[in-house]
Amino acid sequence: MSEQIPALEIKHLTKKYGDKVAVDDISLNIKKGAFFGLLGPNGAGKSTTIHCITGIAQPTEGEIRIDGIDVVKDYKLARTKVGLSPQEFNVDIFATPEQLMDYMGGYYGIPYAERAARIEKLIARFDLEKHRKVKFQKLSGGLKRRAMLGRALVHTPDLLILDEPTAGVDVEQRHELWAYLKEMNEGGKTIILTSHYLEEIQYLCNEIAIINHGKIVAEGTKEEFMKEGKSVEQTYLEVIRAQK
Ligand code: ADP
Ligand code: MG
Repeated sequence: MSEQIPALEIKHLTKKYGDKVAVDDISLNIKKGAFFGLLGPNGAGKSTTIHCITGIAQPTEGEIRIDGIDVVKDYKLARTKVGLSPQEFNVDIFATPEQLMDYMGGYYGIPYAERAARIEKLIARFDLEKHRKVKFQKLSGGLKRRAMLGRALVHTPDLLILDEPTAGVDVEQRHELWAYLKEMNEGGKTIILTSHYLEEIQYLCNEIAIINHGKIVAEGTKEEFMKEGKSVEQTYLEVIRAQK
């Protein structure tokens, strides 16, 4: 039955850059509708994993399926199923939010009229009306992230991957972003989030994995990460310190 196909299935993924093993034999299953937090120190392999899922990097070994579709063998179809807000802004800084969404819609071959209608909805959804024609470089950190969210969603993927979407965003704007993310998850999107703000992970996510030195070192529900009255942050520190 289709609802039993996971949103994302990673089997024995390894990614090497030359001799450097960035991701070392990881396996993960993320079910549809999950809000999944992928945690780990800098250099742990989070972005590399995300790059392998989204076709930016080629897995060295292993298999990845998005909604049952192999991301290497059936790259084009798999890519339509996932939206990415990357850690680094890979955008034309002179483009406006509506142009960024339009370029991405064009990349996915969405016809003009449909694209325009979707962009209107995304601009309204992320409250970008006043900023739709402002160059990316002039936007605040929070608005940049909102524009990236809109761009990630223009082809209406079911799976949304957000790589440190609140880095460099001030407290108030971060809370605004949280509201958008919660709303999207409640609306049915499966979300994978990386963040160094563990109160954010605790607030938003219901499933969590910790990656360290390219390996999954802990995995469970939020409740499992909050046993004995601990915060997700306390559990995270215990896990990472035990590795040293
Ligand atoms: P994270 O996102 O968890 O901070 P990354 O996935 O970016 O970690 O990096 C994992 C490891 O892979 C790091 O040691 C990093 O230096 C290395 N790495 C990432 N991308 C490349 C690349 N394109 N070429 C070589 N090494 C890379
Ligand atoms: Mg990263």
